[in-house]
Amino acid sequence: MAEVYDLTVIGGGIHGAGVAQAAAAHGYSVLVLEQTALAAGTSSRSSKLIHGGLRYLESGQFGLVRECLRERALLLQLAPGLVRMQAFYLPLYHDTRRDAWQIRAGLSLYALFSGLGRDTLFRKLPRREWERLDGLNTDGLHAVFRYPDAQTDDAALTRAVMHSAQTLGAALKMPATLTRAECGEHGVTVHYDDGQPRSCQTRVLVNAAGPWVNQVLARVSPTPPQCAVDLVQGTHILVPGALQRGIYYIEAPSDRRAVFVMPWRDNTLVGTTETLYHGDPSAVRPRPEDITYLRETLCHYFPQHRHDEPRILDSFAGLRVLPARPGTPFSRSRETILFTDREQQPRVLTIYGGKLTAYRATAEAVLARLRASLPGKTPVADTRALPLHPV
Ligand SMILES: Cc1cc2nc3c(=O)[nH]c(=O)nc-3n(C[C@H](O)[C@H](O)[C@H](O)COP(=O)(O)OP(=O)(O)OC[C@H]3O[C@@H](n4cnc5c(N)ncnc54)[C@H](O)[C@@H]3O)c2cc1C
Repeated sequence: MAEVYDLTVIGGGIHGAGVAQAAAAHGYSVLVLEQTALAAGTSSRSSKLIHGGLRYLESGQFGLVRECLRERALLLQLAPGLVRMQAFYLPLYHDTRRDAWQIRAGLSLYALFSGLGRDTLFRKLPRREWERLDGLNTDGLHAVFRYPDAQTDDAALTRAVMHSAQTLGAALKMPATLTRAECGEHGVTVHYDDGQPRSCQTRVLVNAAGPWVNQVLARVSPTPPQCAVDLVQGTHILVPGALQRGIYYIEAPSDRRAVFVMPWRDNTLVGTTETLYHGDPSAVRPRPEDITYLRETLCHYFPQHRHDEPRILDSFAGLRVLPARPGTPFSRSRETILFTDREQQPRVLTIYGGKLTAYRATAEAVLARLRASLPGKTPVADTRALPLHPV
């Protein structure tokens, strides 16, 4: 007899793990199918920041920033071994795109949305402290702001959330690839391959396949409506040398895009770029021109790197899933989109986009949207109170 689950989740990235944890906490039976390994996709190739996204204030995405900052506060409590506060430095030069008053206004709003606690406040550094900033270029520098935000290990966080889900009873099959799904009136028959062709029965299918979402939808019959998306490639490079003070939020000199320079396991991580990507998500790789762009940006602000051989210890690229719209990817909304096959009693729900930071809130929103398709169950836990430990 075929196995039966309340929910089947496609994808073992942060969203798949988050939905599995929330579903199990609400008392549902849940299966996760992951084709490669946990966090094999975007969830190990992010900038690894648990943040509200200061720059999203400029585009008026206040709801997103507030939600992310609430989730940041919660993760700092629930996962102190995985998420920690960092000092962020925002240097302003004569050619920086924003003025000091704009930065002050943005940081004030950010602190307000963070709850105005003692650890949420920013300050302008006195000039005498500039020399302690990891060799930051002071030519043309006229101000440096310091504000607090948080950093994590994205893959480790994903594993911890999945572990929490499994502790509550969620099942994980890996490697296991969804091959086909058929929607019936009362649920979905899911066909997958874990070395052998298998199938299970589920009330709802949650498509958390990141950049593969529309490939997964193409395997569902009848084919549910899709959201038109662009895949936007973001590259990071890892270079030798540890940063002592924290994370630097700089503007690339060539196009004034935001780039982070971050301490990462005794070395320095620099990212990210944003380029439209066409092709198989599994084949995404850093492009030589992206590596050059990041290295030039690093050398511009941290001149000590100019004298190094261009030693790149590592580089990786991930794909953002953004609604297909005209305009540069950089200015597009980062709100998460939940898309269902039908309005009443959905059988298939697809997660488009999203932030690592807000995975828990997204997972709870998924469960709320699916309530009418699922039986009444007594919750066994609350995701707002489940501690997360490195595994
Ligand atoms: C460059 C970059 C930087 C970012 N930086 C940040 C940041 O600093 N902070 C932040 O909050 N957010 C950040 N984000 C956003 C965040 O990383 C993503 O929103 C998040 O990781 C997406 O997770 P996901 O689970 O949806 O997708 P993924 O992590 O891509 O997971 C999808 C999974 O589905 C699996 N899969 C696909 N097809 C199948 C199938 N047929 N059967 C079984 N399994 C399948 C894949 O193997 C994969 O593991 C960044 C994103 C990018 C691209």
